[in-house]
Amino acid sequence: MALYVYKFGGTSVGSVERIKSVAEKVKKAHDLGDQIVVVLSAMSGETNRLIDLAKEMQSQPTARELDVLISTGEQVTVALLSMALHQLGCDATSYTGGQVRILTDSVHTKARIREIDDAKMRADLNDRKVVVVAGFQGVDEFGDITTLGRGGSDTSAVALAAALKADECHIYTDVDGVYTTDPRVEPKARRLDHITFEEMLEMASLGSKVLQIRSVEFAGKYNVALRVLSSFQEGCGTLITYEDSQMESALISGIAFNRDEAKLTITGVPDLPGVAHKILGPIADANIEVDMIVQNIADDASTDFTFTVHRNEYLRAKTILEQTCSELGARKVTGDDTIVKVSIVGVGMRSHAGIASTMFKTLADEGINIRMIATSEIKISVVVDEKYLELAVRALHSAFELDKTIEAL
Ligand code: ADP
Ligand code: ASP
Ligand code: MG
Repeated sequence: MALYVYKFGGTSVGSVERIKSVAEKVKKAHDLGDQIVVVLSAMSGETNRLIDLAKEMQSQPTARELDVLISTGEQVTVALLSMALHQLGCDATSYTGGQVRILTDSVHTKARIREIDDAKMRADLNDRKVVVVAGFQGVDEFGDITTLGRGGSDTSAVALAAALKADECHIYTDVDGVYTTDPRVEPKARRLDHITFEEMLEMASLGSKVLQIRSVEFAGKYNVALRVLSSFQEGCGTLITYEDSQMESALISGIAFNRDEAKLTITGVPDLPGVAHKILGPIADANIEVDMIVQNIADDASTDFTFTVHRNEYLRAKTILEQTCSELGARKVTGDDTIVKVSIVGVGMRSHAGIASTMFKTLADEGINIRMIATSEIKISVVVDEKYLELAVRALHSAFELDKTIEAL
């Protein structure tokens, strides 16, 4: 007898009909004798709808109230799935995050899980019940409802799998696995049978929304066997694995992109020790996360400094930077919130030279100007104008022959 945690995303539970088909899938697995814990998202579009409602009420609602509101979407789907299972004659109980006791810190809207009490779930599983848990939510030490950040149901599922020492955690979604890039942007994208944790972590952190980054971190840390599969068709999906030799023969495993980027530049900054801190300190104090940072080499006594932030934070960051500009006696602040980041990812990059030059040549051949570059051992990211996103992704996908299987190369 195996224990599985199954997570179904928003599209998979987007209607009564779809919830009924999830119930059938769950019942089938349960009838085989396995123990099943199901984690659900809200119906697709519901979390956005709730956020919009909050904005209509107040321009900047408190994060605590926002959590009380946006956690409700998942409460609806777990109850409905439980009912659908009962209808099929399958015993099931639904729980909110707080009822299971998924204990988190108190950082509302991006809380981190601290501890999970598995007693209730274990007792239900031993009674041959299906346990249905609301994803995306927990409770803090004061009993307040928290949420785990957008896409957080993935993390709920992996965390429950870790706590219960599940045999596998299945993330059922609207694609049949992890692809070489988002198949909505490049239809020639190819499903990967395996991807390493390290690569999946990079892909997720560089913008591939198929898995929330924290879920991958969690799976790596607690050794959870994690698989991404389709809710709608049979198949074995993509297994997230530890590095193996077969993977290393692929130079690049995937292309990630992030549309939520904006960049800011401050020019004519005096080139003195402490300047980076003076520029980025106030940005950090305002809780704005900075991603890429480039400082030019000064050719006189002054330098230029450019960094990227989330597009939602662009105006706030610009206002802060303008203040810093006048304090430092710098020349001016410019910015652009129509940029995107495109990244190539692969553990194979470690042992091969020339990847960056292929990437830059490919973009140049398409007439795409690179505005910023960042590299690490297993990724190269470039910032380009938003209008080039699709072109850049497709050109790189073809240049690195990602549409071909390893055997075909
Ligand atoms: P869910 O609601 O099930 O959590 P998400 O929308 O969060 O689903 O994630 C699935 C989506 O992720 C896919 O529909 C796809 O457009 C997108 N995606 C982005 N990058 C990738 C990738 N490399 N492989 C597969 N899907 C990707
Ligand atoms: N419903 C939440 C969201 O839309 C969590 C999730 O779907 O994973 O972000
Ligand atoms: Mg998701």
